[in-house]
Amino acid sequence: MKEVWLKSGKERSVLNFHPWVFSGAVKKMDDDIQEGELVRLCGNHGEPLAVGLFNNGSIQVRILEFGVSELSKDFFLEQFQNAWTLRRNLGIPSSETNGFRLIHGEGDNLPGLIVDVFNTSIVMQFHNIGMYKFRERIVSALEQSAPFEIDSIYQKSEDTLPKVFEIKNSYLKGEKEFEIFKESGISYKADWQGGQKTGFFLDQRENRRLLRKFAHGKKVLNTFSYSGGFSIPCLQAGAELVDSVDISKAAVDLASSNAALNGEFPNHNCITSDAFKFLEEIPEKKYDIIILDPPAFAKSRKVVKNAARGYQRLNTLGFEKVKTGGIIFTFSCSQAIDKDLFRKIVFSAAQEVGRDIRILYQLGQPADHPINIYHPEGEYLKGFVLQVL
Ligand code: SAH
Repeated sequence: MKEVWLKSGKERSVLNFHPWVFSGAVKKMDDDIQEGELVRLCGNHGEPLAVGLFNNGSIQVRILEFGVSELSKDFFLEQFQNAWTLRRNLGIPSSETNGFRLIHGEGDNLPGLIVDVFNTSIVMQFHNIGMYKFRERIVSALEQSAPFEIDSIYQKSEDTLPKVFEIKNSYLKGEKEFEIFKESGISYKADWQGGQKTGFFLDQRENRRLLRKFAHGKKVLNTFSYSGGFSIPCLQAGAELVDSVDISKAAVDLASSNAALNGEFPNHNCITSDAFKFLEEIPEKKYDIIILDPPAFAKSRKVVKNAARGYQRLNTLGFEKVKTGGIIFTFSCSQAIDKDLFRKIVFSAAQEVGRDIRILYQLGQPADHPINIYHPEGEYLKGFVLQVL
């Protein structure tokens, strides 16, 4: 196995179990290490510290296993077994919920791998080529550890792996095109080929359950509604009106067909529109509840300032338009904007509008999207439930 040696003093973060090694920490390395190759990571004197995946970028090595000089034979199987055990302890899958995340990258000790489960179908996303090269072992570990028979495994990495590798999306098992699955008793279609990301945003499950408690008899505006994940719980809870707004016609159609899977809801309107424009044009105080769950505005640290302006504008609009005593569910899924910064942005929006606003809940990602404590970068979803007087 080829070796990468660290500069003196740079062992610290590895000994602290941080799974990323930055190029600035590297003292020397063997020649001709291939992108994605499994390498041995050594300290300043050549002592083996870990094994990981080599990458030509600012993150030079992503560590798979600490304290070893070779990858353990059953490494992948063990990670998958641990992942299933955690989900079982969380009560998933269940008769109510059979869509959930099984592997959340570093949070499940598998850097750059996402595995989402939709009933008996699986969608995998590889974020680095090293992980992709292990796909056969990963599929085998998954199948060996799964408590049920898996029909289909789709890998959707075309947009997450560097283009130079020319990896196309493909089925690693079976060829099911979509799956109807359940989240908190509600049926949805996961359309991994036509839809966004792995086909459904599983990270909002608990926040949707919370929203449901507020929705009875209310007029709800769900902006950035995608497949209706926040809309349908409100409809089921007896909301008077739900308007789902998304800029994508395909998303709006999906929200509408998902609603139809769960009943007839003449009080549900699916609207194709830019959410900012829609919010600007609606009359004040029409809605009791407004949900603001935009895509990540900050895809990298460089654009944090612009992104912050986007979030502030959006929240300002929400605060201006919601009814007196109304509720705002506001989120940011930008990893580059942390909890504190998001709170400051929401604070600035509140200040701009000048209404009396209080925080009822502080929200995050659910436990099937765990955060490795040594890898705080894995925390990305944050939100607030606010009351606006
Ligand atoms: N709330 C959703 C997930 C939102 S994903 C859920 O619970 O599943 C972000 C969505 O925002 C995408 O569907 C995307 O099409 C939509 N979007 C992006 N820019 C938008 C804009 N300016 N106005 C409205 N929708 C937008």
